[in-house]
Amino acid sequence: MTTTVAVFTRDLRVHDNPMLAAAVLGADEVVPLFVRDARITGSGFAAGRKKFLNESLTDLDTSLRDLGGRLVVREGDAVKEIYEVAREVRAARVHIAGDVSAFATAREKALRDALPCEFVVHDDVHTVVPPGALTPTGSDHFSVFSPYHRRWADARWRAEAPKPSRITLPKIRVGAVLSAKGNGFPGGETAARTRMTSWLRSSAESYASDHDALAADRTSRLSPYLHLGCVSALEVARRGEKSAEFVRQLAWRDFHHQVLAARPAAATSDYRPRGDRWLDDEDALSAWQAGETGIPIVDAGMRQLLAEGWMHNRARLIVGSFLTKTLYVDWRSGAAHFFRHLLDGDIANNCMNWQWVAGTGTDTRPNRVLNPLRQAERFDPEGEYVRRYVPELSAVDGKRVHRPWDLRAGERAGYPMPIVDLAEGRARFLAARG
Ligand SMILES: Cc1cc2nc3c(=O)[nH]c(=O)nc-3n(C[C@H](O)[C@H](O)[C@H](O)COP(=O)(O)OP(=O)(O)OC[C@H]3O[C@@H](n4cnc5c(N)ncnc54)[C@H](O)[C@@H]3O)c2cc1C
Repeated sequence: MTTTVAVFTRDLRVHDNPMLAAAVLGADEVVPLFVRDARITGSGFAAGRKKFLNESLTDLDTSLRDLGGRLVVREGDAVKEIYEVAREVRAARVHIAGDVSAFATAREKALRDALPCEFVVHDDVHTVVPPGALTPTGSDHFSVFSPYHRRWADARWRAEAPKPSRITLPKIRVGAVLSAKGNGFPGGETAARTRMTSWLRSSAESYASDHDALAADRTSRLSPYLHLGCVSALEVARRGEKSAEFVRQLAWRDFHHQVLAARPAAATSDYRPRGDRWLDDEDALSAWQAGETGIPIVDAGMRQLLAEGWMHNRARLIVGSFLTKTLYVDWRSGAAHFFRHLLDGDIANNCMNWQWVAGTGTDTRPNRVLNPLRQAERFDPEGEYVRRYVPELSAVDGKRVHRPWDLRAGERAGYPMPIVDLAEGRARFLAARG
């Protein structure tokens, strides 16, 4: 009798999951296990993130039940709980997906030391191409995207892993999958697959031309599902082949993962230090977080984040540049706020994108400053995106909404004046960078 443990982390799916497929192969009994470790899923997350996770776990449990199994849930320290389950069922092997954060690599090391059985780490679960699989001559990772992308596009991608046809659970206490109720973005593999199929059919072909249009909002919104692995990045990339530009975004995701895998400290330290002495400006940070900076395009993005747990990529670039380069506030403060609220909050994508925006990361033009007014006029030309998220200005027509300081006080309806002079902020940043 061979029993294995399939430890789910952020790979909450039964389709194309190499970790699960390997755990099932040749095993008589399998324990699909999720450990709710408060150090990850604890109080730091906004309510929307918790709901999304719980829905994803409930959906995974339903899929496993359809296969004859259940999702076994434990609470507490992941290493201790995985060890206990492996011991209890006398597991021959424990399978887990390899991951790139410092927390995940420490967990992996501790499990390797502690487990009384074979331990198999699958590095091909979270990304299209495993981190570390592609390296340039003389380095352990790519630090610039374009050469990475060329190699990535030419690389041989793995075959998709089969969905198990049956799972037999040993006798074990199952534990509670927390119920999830609420509105908003539905979590889980079922919702992810529906979204992938419908979006690829309806919108992939026009992605290259309209992915930056803020009001149209036609990007895939697959990121929360990709973050929790409700759908496999490899499957999305294969099925998205009609749009090279869309598939390229998935290469960015892999790129950031391979940077963090090679430089785990980049989650908190500057990847390329520029000698910054960030301003410790609590008032500016609070205004930015609340969407009260007086720059409508920035406030629209920040309010979208608070309302939906999501923000359009173009808005993320604008608000990120504004915080780090116009207000000259540390990117770590921005990343922490995003991480708390974003449904797709992901250490590799969040930190490495913040570093890119702040010019301490992989951007080859680290001192570029996005002018929010020019960005607004280009990517929200009619002002629709701003009116959607900034109700004070909803009666202001057309692009006048981007310059409320030119309006009469009555038209501004209590909307604040800008907390910073854009030109002065830019000049201060460029002077600081020398
Ligand atoms: C400051 C900042 C912080 C960010 N934080 C996160 C984060 O925590 N989690 C996250 O998933 N993305 C993050 N991004 C990247 C990007 O904004 C989102 O992935 C994207 O907006 C998600 O929307 P979508 O699924 O509709 O993307 P689409 O445009 O449909 O792209 C498809 C997929 O490609 C990937 N992708 C797209 N753009 C990027 C990118 N720049 N970097 C890496 N992967 C990308 C995502 O997985 C996305 O789901 C951040 C970007 C910035 C500028």
